[in-house]
Amino acid sequence: MVYFVGAGPGAIDLLTVRGERLLKKANVIIYAGSLVNPALLNLRQSDCLCYNSAEMTLEEVIAVMVKAEEDNQLTVRLHTGDPSLYGAVQEQMAYLDQLQIAYEVVPGVSSFCAAAAALKREYTLPDVAQSVIITRMKGRTDMPPRENIISFAAHQTTMVIFLSVAMIEQLSDELIKGGYASDTPAAVVYKATWPDEQIVVGTIVELPQMVSARQISKTALILVGKFLKDDYSRSKLYDPAFAHGFREAKE
Ligand code: SAH
Repeated sequence: MVYFVGAGPGAIDLLTVRGERLLKKANVIIYAGSLVNPALLNLRQSDCLCYNSAEMTLEEVIAVMVKAEEDNQLTVRLHTGDPSLYGAVQEQMAYLDQLQIAYEVVPGVSSFCAAAAALKREYTLPDVAQSVIITRMKGRTDMPPRENIISFAAHQTTMVIFLSVAMIEQLSDELIKGGYASDTPAAVVYKATWPDEQIVVGTIVELPQMVSARQISKTALILVGKFLKDDYSRSKLYDPAFAHGFREAKE
């Protein structure tokens, strides 16, 4: 059996209880060494085999899983954050389907949730933003043609941009070109929940200098939108005058 497990954003106690149980039981662990906190591997049994997928191809990862399966062993494939975002997990599952190897996915705390927690902010504020656009810039790997920062910026809602801090100047330009005012609040969260976490808050036009002043070049999220301001309406859900299925309206 193979378990794809979300390792969480970094701090080892942000692994789920289910993920922890599986790591303790695993015979084989394949972890995304570029971002997964290596301290999580301390949970393993002494005879557990560990592989760093940063140095492996998809076929090599699958070969390790196949071998483990032949030996009736439990494999944990440890992905950073939650596997469903930029995890390259679908192609692994497709291989396992083909090979008729059973697997399950255990979700994790994505770094975009950890970043909101670090900032003490809510992405979806009443009357400000009710949608979150999770995206990235085109880098060495392409983006689908209709998905670009300029077109997403037109919505002026909350944006969470992964994998793009190295292209911060272009990002800042495209956000403004797409329609955000240049003084729209923006934040950079570097290594959320790690001991060397950094939080920088400013505006879209200031993004390049916010990043260069701190020499942040990777493992960061860029967050954009008015959700970073204190200007919003109270929720209806907890409004005394608003009744719903679980509560009557109060005078
Ligand atoms: N599946 C992961 C994302 C993998 S892509 C998740 O759910 O978080 C890797 C990118 O995620 C990094 O380049 C960075 O943009 C972001 N990232 C991952 N961990 C992070 C953290 N602790 N703090 C800030 N950004 C992080």
